[in-house]
Parts: sequence; C-alpha cells; structure tokens
Amino acid sequence: MRVRFGRRGLPPAGPAIVAQHLAVWPLLLRREQERLLQITDELLSHKRWEAARGFTLDDTVRVVIAAQAALLVLRLTTDQYRQVSGIVVHPSTLVTTGVRPGPSTGTVTADPQAVLGLAQDRRGPVVLAWDQALAGAHREQPGHNVVLHEFAHKLDMLDGSIDGTPLVPHELRADWVRVCTDVYDDLVAGHPRPPLRWYGATNPGEFFAVATELFFEQSRELAAYEPELYDVLARFYRQDPAIREPPGS
Ligand SMILES: [Zn+2]
Repeated sequence: MRVRFGRRGLPPAGPAIVAQHLAVWPLLLRREQERLLQITDELLSHKRWEAARGFTLDDTVRVVIAAQAALLVLRLTTDQYRQVSGIVVHPSTLVTTGVRPGPSTGTVTADPQAVLGLAQDRRGPVVLAWDQALAGAHREQPGHNVVLHEFAHKLDMLDGSIDGTPLVPHELRADWVRVCTDVYDDLVAGHPRPPLRWYGATNPGEFFAVATELFFEQSRELAAYEPELYDVLARFYRQDPAIREPPGS
C-alpha cells in the first residue's frame, strides 16, 4: 500500500489497529481500504480530538473512531464533515442530568439519562462514549453503531437543519423524500417496518441516523425488507454495502 500519512494523522500502527477492530475491514476492496485509511488520516489531522473526564486518547481510541466515521464518507468527501468542529470522547456511556422534557407531553423530568453519543448542533463537536464506539466497530449488537449514528446527524446538519435530509443530489431528492416519508410515517403510526427500530420514529433526524446504521451494519437485511430505502441510501452514500456482506450476515 503506497499511502503517505502526516505526522499528526494516522500513526504507524494505524492500519493494524483498523484491521484489528473494524469488522467491516476485511469486507472492503483493496482500493476502498486505501481510501478509508486516507480519510481516517485526514480526520485525525484536521479535527480537534479531545478526551473528557480525565480519559486518555491513545492511538486505538482515535483511529477506531476516525475509521468508522471515514466509512460513511468513503465515496463522498471529508468536506461533508465541515460541521464537525471536533470529537470529544468519554470513557463510557455518559449520564446527563438536568431538567428536560419528560416522556409525556407537557411533563418535565430530571432523571439521569444515559447517552451513548451526541452530535451537537451546528459547528459543535461529536461526543462519543468509547465503550460504545468500540462495540460498534466490532458489531457486537447488529445494526447499532454510535459513531455512524452521530456522524450521520452531522451530514444531516449540512443544509442547516436536522430534518432527516442531508445534501442529497438534486435528481435524488424527490425519491428520497417519498421513500423516507413513507417508511417514517408508518413507524410514527405504530406500524413496524423491520429492520427499522422504533427509535427511528422519534423525529426525521433520528430516522435518518438509524437508517444509516442499518444501511452499513445490517445492509442485506435492509436491502431485503426495505429495498427502496436501501436504494436511496445507496444513491446518497454512493456505496452498495450489501454486496460486500457474506450471505447470512
Ligand atoms: Zn440520534
């Protein structure tokens, strides 16, 4: 592999770290692997990486997170992440407190809430729990990947609002809105649309983030059950992950 990396970007052990921790790595073509490492290098070089609560960011933490974020934009450009000012990593699941809207309309709650990750609005950072990010890399829970989820929110924010529609090409827009609205409205109405999770009915932004997780992590299942949704995602991301997954996965 003839890829050169800057000193503050991908460390010498980077390719081995990616190969060790990313379940998707052996499924990628050689040129996709090279591109993934290039994007990982760019994200490590150009974004601000920060540890929270006394946590230490070693090479493994930075590389495993950056490489997953890179998968999302493998066929796009890192410019799509221009809203990502930095990445803040907590050692494990964050617990937030403070008064916020409660589970029923008109109520408030101050109960602690577990947060696996956050994508702060506008130019804010992506906040992640390392244990969750690592579990996602290893596909411990099929279809769940907090890094893909939070970075999908950042793609969604590019046009100024989190509305479930990132900057899709003009010729895709009508299909995108029609297909996503159909599946989303069904979920909101309580009609199951597997493999979509109910969390996708929270709002259109969560719908896009959840659909993105499935597109990359349970791609064959999504393609089989929701071929139209798979198709618009494939046209947006310019990837066809279902063809790289071994049968039965
Ligand atoms: Zn979300």
